[in-house]
Amino acid sequence: SGDEHSEQPPIRAQLRDRRFQHVVEVHRADVGDKLKVGLLDGKIGEARVVERGESHITLEATFHRAPPPPLPLTLILALPRPKMLKRTIQHATALGVKKLYLINAYRVEKSYWQSPWLAQDKLREQCLLGLEQAVDTTLPHIELRKRFKPFVEDELPSIASDSLKLVAHPVTDAPCPVDIQQQTTLAVGPEGGFIPYEVEKLQEAGFAPVHLGPRILRVETALPVLMSRLFPGR
Ligand code: SAM
Repeated sequence: SGDEHSEQPPIRAQLRDRRFQHVVEVHRADVGDKLKVGLLDGKIGEARVVERGESHITLEATFHRAPPPPLPLTLILALPRPKMLKRTIQHATALGVKKLYLINAYRVEKSYWQSPWLAQDKLREQCLLGLEQAVDTTLPHIELRKRFKPFVEDELPSIASDSLKLVAHPVTDAPCPVDIQQQTTLAVGPEGGFIPYEVEKLQEAGFAPVHLGPRILRVETALPVLMSRLFPGR
């Protein structure tokens, strides 16, 4: 049912399953209520609940606002343990990362690569949770690289070309820069940190080690701190 005065007619959509639960249980939405909604990889808008069933809810939505701009950041992240992976992906997505490589490193346990959470549809679910949180609609692009050396030697140079290259490393002299305003590629290590050989390889590829102060943070904490330091207010 279109409104002849608006440029885009409203779109009707039904929510089921997790989204139905979320809207009904968290937002306690009922007929007539308004919700913020977004089209995946598209605009953000407003929806009105027009009908509520036992297991679905019908919305009528219009879309008018562009999503927030992505960060000029490519993330190179040593694969975290599955439980942490989910939260890390959610946080990184909520903070605006649009390109993410999950890579192997010496201190990444082999079993992590068997995690069912690495399937693209599972990663996507975590990304969607991050996008919903942040009122964003642009899905990040996630790639897996199981071999450190060929990735760093053969692929990373073109991935990181024309960008500031940083590796977060606790034992180094340079503090992480603040508000850098330029395209950046940031590498973050595994739970036990990158081994010296890996830091050397990254340095050969042009990556400068930077630290966040004397406290060693978990990856899921270090990452949001790094991102908000590099791009405050974005
Ligand atoms: N003992 C490990 C080490 O010294 O590298 C700690 C690794 S930390 C739990 C996991 C990753 O988070 C690190 O490889 C690094 O990329 C990042 N990180 C955590 N705390 C940091 C800090 N204070 N400065 C820079 N990076 C940090």
